[in-house]
Amino acid sequence: MNEVTDPPSPTISEEKRMERIVTKEDYIQSLKDLHHVVYYKGKRVEDVTEHPALRPHINSAALTYELALRPEHEELMTAVSHLTGRKINRFTHIHQSIDDLIKKVQMLRLIAHETGSCFQRCVGLDALNAVYMTAYDIDQKYKTDYFERFKRYLLHVQESNVMVVGGMTDPKGDRSLPPGKQADPDLFTHVVERRANGIIIRGAKAHMTGAVNSQEILIMPTQAMREEEKDYALACALPLNAPGVILIFGRQTNEERKCEEGFDAGNPQFGLVGGEALIIFEDVFVPWERVFLCGEYDLAGLLVERFATLHRQNYGGCKGGVSDVLIGASALAAEFQGTAGASHIKEKLAEMIHLAETIYAGSVACSAMGYKTPSGAYYPDPLLANTTKHNVTRHIYEIARLAHDISGGIVATMPFQGDLENSEVGRYVRKYLAGAQGIPVEARMKILRLIENMSGGTALVESMHGAGSPQTQKVMYGRLGNLEQKKRWAKRLVQID
Ligand code: SF4
Repeated sequence: MNEVTDPPSPTISEEKRMERIVTKEDYIQSLKDLHHVVYYKGKRVEDVTEHPALRPHINSAALTYELALRPEHEELMTAVSHLTGRKINRFTHIHQSIDDLIKKVQMLRLIAHETGSCFQRCVGLDALNAVYMTAYDIDQKYKTDYFERFKRYLLHVQESNVMVVGGMTDPKGDRSLPPGKQADPDLFTHVVERRANGIIIRGAKAHMTGAVNSQEILIMPTQAMREEEKDYALACALPLNAPGVILIFGRQTNEERKCEEGFDAGNPQFGLVGGEALIIFEDVFVPWERVFLCGEYDLAGLLVERFATLHRQNYGGCKGGVSDVLIGASALAAEFQGTAGASHIKEKLAEMIHLAETIYAGSVACSAMGYKTPSGAYYPDPLLANTTKHNVTRHIYEIARLAHDISGGIVATMPFQGDLENSEVGRYVRKYLAGAQGIPVEARMKILRLIENMSGGTALVESMHGAGSPQTQKVMYGRLGNLEQKKRWAKRLVQID
């Protein structure tokens, strides 16, 4: 416990927070109004919406608002609130059926086709659902009132349509030590003081997708906790402009390309995967009405497991959709260089489609096999959700490998757009990068840059570690795989005890 000053007054008024965000323009304006503390490359960013390194991620998340307004996407992008009966954005919805779980996966694939990139808002959606289910269970066990509190918070999210970043991963310091034994106790986010009107928290959340372009964060514990780690068993929500919150945007592979004009960025409008940030909480006040788990350590693990399952459910949807774009780009690269008719190219494209549909099938399957939790919210089958994410850690690398194979070495050695446009050497670039007859060199270069952007560096690592590393999925197999039952089936066949 530490001495801290009195709780600061919120910098964003309740009235302002409750303004409804409808269009992508509303969303972008709300980020301008937020005035949260964001750093990029050692400098404070005054307006995240105007910064070239951040804007592509904002464009991507903005589509979650824009597509919801298109009649042809209404069924996937919107839902009916079980709290109010009103139409809401599906990214603020608590799943009420198997159909909702499947529609979520379909929605993610749809948006990924538009962006070719991560659109970030699913993290908050999964956090809302995980906390909803678990707040109910905590109340059942401890007679607390977290569920009613959370429903009031959810109502605010659904009515205002804010983007919420789900905050789970703590920095963790020395992985061999539990939270309370770390040399620095802040390496896991924790409560440092309890007051009559709320709590003071300190710590950080790392790798937070979409953090700099969300308005709020819903914090969850990073792992199961023991009794002596009660102060680390914490779930709460706060606006990202609350005093004491600092966001530091992470470096991405080739991120300086986003600051260039033209097609060398690869995916100029939507950027490269999610745009992750380190979020620091330096003695931040959270009122009790925004606290949904505080000290009930024995249910922290359940909350973590539920969030992980809900986010792993997604990966065949969004990564399936992103893979569709990469497969299309690879097919175009082959066409543009005259290899599309070769049997080995057709075979490789078929293999890429097989891999993409396999991960999508996993996401649909874990949704179809989902079930109702005691809270009433629906939950995907956790074993199948984990295998889906595990397949993504492998299949995305294989899809990227095949994209490189089809594209050729040019994907890594191609000159700049500036060379193409240079008055001295441009004619040589145009002459020697020519491919199939009738295909403009610019078109070929654009597609190759897109492939490079979608298949290298950060994009791959994100598939490996986003929603948890492969080892976290293997831990779940040990718990959910029911090895004892499998042994019994084998023994029965050969009639041994
Ligand atoms: Fe959503 Fe996929 Fe990005 Fe996760 S990686 S936030 S599921 S788009």
